Amino acid sequence: MAEARIQDPTQVTDFAYTRGLFDVGTGELVKLEKKEVEDDMDFLGGIGRSFKIVAEYDVGDPFAPDAPLVINIGCLTGTGYMTGLRTYFTAYSPLKRTLEDAPMPGWSAMSGSFGRKFKSTGLDDLVLVGRAATPQILVIKQGEDGPEISLQPAPDEIVGARTPEKVAWLNREFNDPDNRKYPAHFSVIGPAGENYAKVWYASIASTTQEQLMSGEDKFRFAGRLGMGSVLGSKNILAIVASAQKDEYPDGDERLKPINREIGRGEQSKGYRHPNNHDGGGGTGRLERVLDSFGVLPFKNFAPPGENIAVPSHIETVREAEEFIVIDKNCYGCQISCHQDVYAAPEGGKDPDPRKARRNHGPYIGRYEFEPMELTGPNLGIEDAKANLELARLTDDLGFDAISSSVVVSFLMDYNERNEEKIAGGVSFGDVEGTTRVMEDIAYGRDPLFGKGVKKISEEIGGAEYAMHCKGVEHSAYLPQTNPGYPFATAGGHMSMRTFLLYVMDPDCQPESADYWVRQITEEGWKMINVNLHGGCLFTLAPPPQTAEAVSSIYGIELSGDQLVEATYQTHLLGFALEQKQGATPADYDMAGDVFVGKAKGDLEGVRFLTRELFEEIRERVLVKFKEDAQKAGYLN
Ligand code: SF4
Repeated sequence: MAEARIQDPTQVTDFAYTRGLFDVGTGELVKLEKKEVEDDMDFLGGIGRSFKIVAEYDVGDPFAPDAPLVINIGCLTGTGYMTGLRTYFTAYSPLKRTLEDAPMPGWSAMSGSFGRKFKSTGLDDLVLVGRAATPQILVIKQGEDGPEISLQPAPDEIVGARTPEKVAWLNREFNDPDNRKYPAHFSVIGPAGENYAKVWYASIASTTQEQLMSGEDKFRFAGRLGMGSVLGSKNILAIVASAQKDEYPDGDERLKPINREIGRGEQSKGYRHPNNHDGGGGTGRLERVLDSFGVLPFKNFAPPGENIAVPSHIETVREAEEFIVIDKNCYGCQISCHQDVYAAPEGGKDPDPRKARRNHGPYIGRYEFEPMELTGPNLGIEDAKANLELARLTDDLGFDAISSSVVVSFLMDYNERNEEKIAGGVSFGDVEGTTRVMEDIAYGRDPLFGKGVKKISEEIGGAEYAMHCKGVEHSAYLPQTNPGYPFATAGGHMSMRTFLLYVMDPDCQPESADYWVRQITEEGWKMINVNLHGGCLFTLAPPPQTAEAVSSIYGIELSGDQLVEATYQTHLLGFALEQKQGATPADYDMAGDVFVGKAKGDLEGVRFLTRELFEEIRERVLVKFKEDAQKAGYLN
């Protein structure tokens, strides 16, 4: 974490942070330096710093050895701030590409315990370049005099292994599970990342404390934009962050009530289990909400009406006799947003939920909205158990659950429309076919389907129903409801908060270009503030609260306005980097079928987004972002 350069610091520029540059080709730590904080973006960290780093590189091929992969943390990661656990991976994405095929920068973020261990090693940013000749494990250790970074050959038993098998080996090698000692946490890729040349949407899976203790696969993921593919291209199968001694700098008296509010208060209520201070049910609750409005993605983003996926709603799963849903948490987080699903024990489920959670059968999988929805209703699969198992399969193969599932829904849609079948004729509702296709992709047995729907449709057709923006597959919210998708700088629901407005904003004016332009240019990007400072998205913390937490820990004044301004500057830099890679207005587009009058544009639950409305929004948004990026000095 940033350290004060002077006694009694009063401002962010009184701090410095530690950056390493490591060449995985030579195994050499090229540079380890303390860098003075120059502005709020530097201080807050995460993508505020990593976008500046990747801006210094010219990258035409995201897998080229000299293309950088930045691993870093925010100023709240590994502190006493509840949910301060995030790690960020930033690179030129193999998936997010211009129409001319140039890779554009992006990032992916994860919670879990890797970030707090990374911070304890003494690093803030680690830039990886080069490519190892053989599969390696990157080991980062807390040393006497700062971080120690080295490579060790990956043993045969983890080469090609799925993510849980890799973690099980690492846990035995770098921890002492018999004595419940866990100084190390891990980030790993699965077979998908190892086959990076054919799989552009591989994830990075990171361990939670519960996973190391229970042996069950309870990962957190840096899922989106193919960061696992980039790590795979460096021939790094796993990263170990090991620290015997952890320190969690606490804030002054202001931090305790902030943490109480985060863990127990109204702002995070929606992400908690109903048994946890009257929670709303976690991200899974969205499935019923969207379904009740007739806007739940179904069979490649075309719901025929309302309440079409009741068997896979989390409420149904929670009530079912065969399942027990238990909320779990990342280290020290009282929100406990993970909704883990276990089989009922022999003899049946205890009607008392408190007793049921202590007596359950085997772990089946996690219920999170996007993976469950996109491996379920959007594939026409309406069997909750099959759905949980498919979502878990994407985790274990090391895929981004969103991209891999949307690829399969595209293939199913293609087969429904064409005489000549592809992917073994996989069709909507086909669990076995989905499993086969996903495994074929992850193990590199298919040359095309791992490259995302943009690339697939360029090769075989179907662009009008290839559900992506700038190559990044849509998350589980209809593009028909969200003209903000193309302006997200990373994952569509993680970097532009316009995806729920149609359903959730009582003042939504869907047919008004003014409304959408205002939401995209003035509000939507604010959500990426969590990708700077290291707190979790699910705190839904207002900026003044987060700024106060930072002030409380570092003893300097930081305002909510400063946090918002640093966030906008970061968004603008991300946008400018897209422009520098050659993005034109035509790159900010969506599949033709989603507009009014087209195959998926006239749905019962939504029908407002005409091509003309979208083009007006696009023109005005691009003018505004370009002007502001020029003023910030990011564009000429
Ligand atoms: S809200 Fe969920 S993902 Fe975020 S830190 Fe807490 S348990 Fe982890």
